[in-house]
Amino acid sequence: MFEIKHTLCPSCSVGCGINVILDNEEIVGTFPYKRHPVNEGKNCSNGRSSVENIGELPFDSKVLGDVVGKLKSADSDKVTAVFSGNNSNEDLQAIKSLCESQGFNILAYADNLKNFDSVASYDDVENASKLFVIGNVLYENPLIGRRIVRAKENGAKLYVNDDLEGSPTSNIADEFTSLSVKEFIENNSGNFDDESIILFNSVDSFEDLDLIEGTGSKLLPVYSKSNSKGALNLVDAASKDDALELLNNTETLLVFNDDIVNEFDFDFKSISQVITFTPSKNDTTEISDFVIPIKSWLESDGSFTNAEGLTQEFGSVYESDKMGIVEIIEKINGDLEWFYELYFS
Ligand code: SF4
Repeated sequence: MFEIKHTLCPSCSVGCGINVILDNEEIVGTFPYKRHPVNEGKNCSNGRSSVENIGELPFDSKVLGDVVGKLKSADSDKVTAVFSGNNSNEDLQAIKSLCESQGFNILAYADNLKNFDSVASYDDVENASKLFVIGNVLYENPLIGRRIVRAKENGAKLYVNDDLEGSPTSNIADEFTSLSVKEFIENNSGNFDDESIILFNSVDSFEDLDLIEGTGSKLLPVYSKSNSKGALNLVDAASKDDALELLNNTETLLVFNDDIVNEFDFDFKSISQVITFTPSKNDTTEISDFVIPIKSWLESDGSFTNAEGLTQEFGSVYESDKMGIVEIIEKINGDLEWFYELYFS
């Protein structure tokens, strides 16, 4: 029997709703959720394929015991947890609590972007008179791209700066440049005002963010992961340079639901032990010393905070007896506290 369950797309920070079609509890596809306020029934191909490739990894409770053993003997200053926007707000809160109680480092890296307290809404984008877009947003975040197209149809002037001439975003620009972010901001210094919006999904350096902020425009950073905004509400963002420095000083890396190997040009084999908690295989599991299977977002309840700061809850699409991050962390924390009380109190 067919059934449709509503959830959120996990593939970028736009925060689109998505309907999942189940046939006797097996996922067979996706379906537009017409009333969803963010995407009004549309999903891009990344969103539609997000329900594929949810692999099954075998759970072995002995591996979790081995991980706890490794953490007991680790120097906490040299343990770093990857604080990824792929996780729900609830999972991130648990990871943060674990790190604070055990003295572990937290690595909150989000595309070399940071959090801004006040950001433009998607409606602001649609109604803007001047839009400055940095990066290929139409291709990488298509359902924000739709708002940009509507703004242009409403008469907005569109300035685009992107590496790729001929990209979907460059094709609709009134003015297209392929400059460094610094040069783009300097070139347009006379065009910015408090009515303009700068929308960006990539910058050349962390310092560019100060230049963008200094224009006085409304800002909208669009992150590549569904809950990066939620992550950066809890922990300050690390720049790429700071992230690499922290990785260089790490002996034990805890990777919660992320494929960090694909984000950094870094020799992860130089880290003594990589412990990954993941719902499916990826390049990071390939180099990990321990892999602990966890529930995917399809099997979980939680919430994501999207790029415009809207926190939306989602429920599980199907049941699973796997553990989620919160349960795993409760277990790790409980075992570590028991150990420290026994040997150090
Ligand atoms: S724009 Fe982003 S959130 Fe929306 S469907 Fe595409 S990948 Fe998912």
